Formats: sequence, C-alpha cells, structure tokens
Amino acid sequence: MAFQMNEKSVIEKDVVVVGSGGSGLTAAIVAASQGLDVLLVEKTGLFGGTTALSGGGIWVPCNSLARDAGLADDPE
Ligand SMILES: Cc1cc2nc3c(=O)[nH]c(=O)nc-3n(C[C@H](O)[C@H](O)[C@H](O)COP(=O)(O)OP(=O)(O)OC[C@H]3O[C@@H](n4cnc5c(N)ncnc54)[C@H](O)[C@@H]3O)c2cc1C
Repeated sequence: MAFQMNEKSVIEKDVVVVGSGGSGLTAAIVAASQGLDVLLVEKTGLFGGTTALSGGGIWVPCNSLARDAGLADDPE
C-alpha cells in the first residue's frame, strides 16, 4: 500500500529496511521473525529490484550444505 509522507508524518519502527531486493527482503523477514516491527521502503513502483531480474539462485561458494551434499567447490 502506498503511503504519502507529509511534514507531520511520524512513523516509529524497530527496523527500517531500504530496498526490496533479495537482501532487503531477507533482512525484513529475519527481523520480523525475531518479533521486531519492520518498515520496508522501496523507491520504485515495483518490488524485487535487480533480484527480480536475476536467475533466482543464490550462489554461496564453499558452503557446508553443498559440501554435505557431495558438491565439490574451492575458493578459486
Ligand atoms: C539479469 C541478471 C541475472 C542475475 N542472475 C543471478 C544469478 O543467477 N545468481 C546470483 O546470485 N545473482 C544473479 N544476479 C545478481 C543478483 O541479482 C544481484 O546481485 C542481487 O539481486 C542484488 O540484490 P540486492 O538486494 O543487493 O539489490 P537489488 O535486488 O537491486 O535491490 C535493491 C533495491 O533497493 C531499491 N532502492 C535503491 N535505493 C533506494 C532508496 N534510496 N530508497 C528505497 N529503495 C531503494 C531498489 O529500487 C531495489 O528494489 C543477476 C543479475 C542480473 C541483472
């Protein structure tokens, strides 16, 4: 829901997240899951940022889950 600020607007939140890409949404979800009151602001008319255009995968090299699944990786 769009919200129009004016000079009398005061919003109090525990956490303010700027940007609705993967990093911002992750931060917002984690904060909310910890019981914090979260406001997420997005400057465009669409959610998702660059993340919405991406392949949708998360590449975390050398992570323990991949290693446990038998997938070999190295820093190089
Ligand atoms: C075509 C393409 C394919 C890709 N494929 C992959 C892939 O397969 N795997 C991979 O790991 N990575 C991929 N990437 C890279 C990956 O998508 C990005 O690194 C990642 O999405 C960045 O996430 P982010 O949350 O940091 O930024 P973004 O997703 O860009 O989110 C930032 C958000 O902040 C908003 N914002 C900025 N300034 C303000 C402001 N002042 N106030 C309010 N809101 C603001 C923006 O509008 C945007 O919505 C790809 C990128 C592209 C373009």
